[in-house]
Amino acid sequence: MSETWIDGNMLAGGLREIFAIDLTVARTQCSGCGQTVAVAETRVYQHAPGLVARCRSCDAVLLRLVRTPQRAYLDLQGMRWLELQLPDEAG
Ligand SMILES: [Zn+2]
Repeated sequence: MSETWIDGNMLAGGLREIFAIDLTVARTQCSGCGQTVAVAETRVYQHAPGLVARCRSCDAVLLRLVRTPQRAYLDLQGMRWLELQLPDEAG
């Protein structure tokens, strides 16, 4: 029996909810050293191609964001995880 799957459109609602909030208040863990910080506490360099956020502890690249007039490229490879505070569904 093959494994059941659903195409990527299934992610639309969940991703829209996540990316509609301020990610700078999210907490993340560095894949390099394990340090846990708020995204707003990372060290951001603006003069790379796009924005590059580095870990304050080990200087590893946590996030890269490159914008073109019509697209955005987001690389989160340096983050082990990202913890988001979601709006209360009831209110
Ligand atoms: Zn680190």
